[in-house]
Amino acid sequence: MTTTSATIDLDQPVRQRNAFTDGVDAWLAHRGLDPNSQALRGTPMRLFKALNELTAGYDEDPAVLLSARFDVERSDEMIVVTGVPFTSLCEHHLLPFTGTATIAYLPAPGAAVAGLSKLPRVLDAYARRLQVQEQLTRQVTTALDSHLDTDGSACVIRAVHGCLAHRGARKPGSVMVTSSYTGRFQADIDVRGELLAHIHD
Ligand SMILES: [Zn+2]
Repeated sequence: MTTTSATIDLDQPVRQRNAFTDGVDAWLAHRGLDPNSQALRGTPMRLFKALNELTAGYDEDPAVLLSARFDVERSDEMIVVTGVPFTSLCEHHLLPFTGTATIAYLPAPGAAVAGLSKLPRVLDAYARRLQVQEQLTRQVTTALDSHLDTDGSACVIRAVHGCLAHRGARKPGSVMVTSSYTGRFQADIDVRGELLAHIHD
């Protein structure tokens, strides 16, 4: 049996055409640039591939990521990962926003826990989509509470937005902070304080 490869050779002089690349060509021409120049010939297809890579999270299912669980001796202590880097794409401008997240949850007493590497992967599954930062933050805690047995979860995201830094208000360096707390993170000030202490370690 033979399989044909759908790989696109970006150096090919004849580009693979689609409605998307036609649109980018039209914009280049609108800007007075030559879409057929050596420099720009491959640009529409490179952009097409880059956008697909930046939105690969649509192919990930957080329920599946969180389905592998294991028992631990004491599972009622806070599980926290901090400084998790991510890249996302704002749904309003298709410009990247990048930052770091702190993700935490409290397993319900006796509950099995997810592997630590799964928390960054859940973040990525949602970050690599067209996003709004508030929504991304909330989706992480909702996924943890939906697919794990928790007494609460938390997500705090600090991010710099391309659409705020480089266009519009043009405020590079402005950091947007969003947080989502559920269960005991929401109800118990001491639990939240313990989490914030980890963030500032
Ligand atoms: Zn934006």
